[in-house]
Amino acid sequence: MPMLTISTIPAMRQQVAAWRRAGQTIAFVPTMGALHAGHARLLQEGRRRADRLIASIFVNPTQFGPTEDLAKYPRDLDGDLEQCRSCAVDAVFTPPVEAIYPPGDQTVIEVPGLSAPLCGAFRPGHFRGVATVVYKLFATTLPQVACFGEKDYQQLKVIERMVRDLSLPVEIVPVPTVREPDGLALSSRNQYLSPSERSQATAIWRALQQVRAGAAETRDTAALIAAGRAVLSDARITQIQYFAIVDAETLEPLTTIDRPARCCVAAYVGTTRLIDNVPICAPAKSEEMGSGPI
Ligand code: AMP
Repeated sequence: MPMLTISTIPAMRQQVAAWRRAGQTIAFVPTMGALHAGHARLLQEGRRRADRLIASIFVNPTQFGPTEDLAKYPRDLDGDLEQCRSCAVDAVFTPPVEAIYPPGDQTVIEVPGLSAPLCGAFRPGHFRGVATVVYKLFATTLPQVACFGEKDYQQLKVIERMVRDLSLPVEIVPVPTVREPDGLALSSRNQYLSPSERSQATAIWRALQQVRAGAAETRDTAALIAAGRAVLSDARITQIQYFAIVDAETLEPLTTIDRPARCCVAAYVGTTRLIDNVPICAPAKSEEMGSGPI
């Protein structure tokens, strides 16, 4: 069957209803377009988890701040449709802004606790915009499964909590970050980087690796963060919004790595804001205390 491109909510609902009537399951991958191999990984994951795969392409205005890059956000619908076709997407949902945000709308979804730290502290309203649009897209596409990248770790946690708090019947599948060979996390915003900024940006991955390696030696997050920050400053990345080691579930900062943790970073390289994160394992108790005779 050729891939469908659907841009109205009623038409998308009708298609979803037909699939559901036929007993078919639906996987959903929301995106803002400018698709790359990271998005493709999500689509592949969705493809194998359900009978039907829907991708949305919607540059969501409510998740951009007034001084952010909404107007210049990269758009390439033809390339995106080609990419979707090659990932065997059944339907691409491309709603116009007025379909998602009818004039005079008032309702929002807010996950205040998980939205407050990290990116939330620098992008007020961002996660309200994300949660609201994802809820609306879920309500139209009625998926059993939806895939989200760990690249946007805080977003993943906000969506998981929204689904849990509102008892939505959707399984959220986290997908590991897809990286360039030199470690840079794939992002639609990487195309803003000049060649020299592109090579500077690899320090973000090296800094995260530094923290991860250090965590085998110490549980002290202040020391780990200092070592990670040093890698960034060596690469002349000085505009660091945050470099934090947080509880992997609550996103609260940790002083000691005594539970599953995540090291998260947001920094500007030139005028481009990049984010990345890695899981951090605590050193095994026996390693930390040495394995000498008792
Ligand atoms: P975006 O189009 O940037 O809103 O991203 C759409 C989805 O793709 C989100 O769930 C992102 O976390 C995910 N994503 C973006 N970049 C990557 C990447 N490099 N690896 C894995 N998933 C990604």
